[in-house]
Amino acid sequence: MAKCKACGSGGLFSRVDEVGLCPNCHHSYALMSDSIRILQDSLHLVEDSQYLDTKISRCETALDHIHRILNLPNSVQIWHAFNPTMGLPEIASSIDEVLNDLQTVQVNLAASILDLLRKGPSTQKGLYEVLESAFAKEGRPVDTLSFSVEKSLPNLLKQMEEKGMVSKSKSGRSYMYSIGNKQ
Ligand SMILES: [Zn+2]
Repeated sequence: MAKCKACGSGGLFSRVDEVGLCPNCHHSYALMSDSIRILQDSLHLVEDSQYLDTKISRCETALDHIHRILNLPNSVQIWHAFNPTMGLPEIASSIDEVLNDLQTVQVNLAASILDLLRKGPSTQKGLYEVLESAFAKEGRPVDTLSFSVEKSLPNLLKQMEEKGMVSKSKSGRSYMYSIGNKQ
């Protein structure tokens, strides 16, 4: 007699697969496997990436795939059978927290950039230097952050440009950023 390690169903004539799942749970598990792989890849990138926007988009991808997994039959029990220490809802809420923090940092960075540009146009390098010292003054030196402000700045400026918050113009050999016209 075999008993499914996820849902506990079993009986005299029931069978389980090589990892101990009944046919129903085996089916869900097969459907979960792509999302689990994407979830794991995303979490590695959230951890390792130096780019703020990559971290944010990978948090969103991870949450999306957790929700896909949670929508499959018996997925909570199947997950628990293989990962008894941390449940999917707990993982989702900790990613949510990280995502909120990152988004707050991004909004604050954009606001600081606009404040700086209100005083006059600046190059990307000039902006970075002021931001770096602003972080230091706040007691959060840039090298203690989970991402690189310097590497994240170009993408952030590009997003702000697309939203019309800043504009870019060529001045000599470098680009100058100034306040956009759509704020
Ligand atoms: Zn089962």
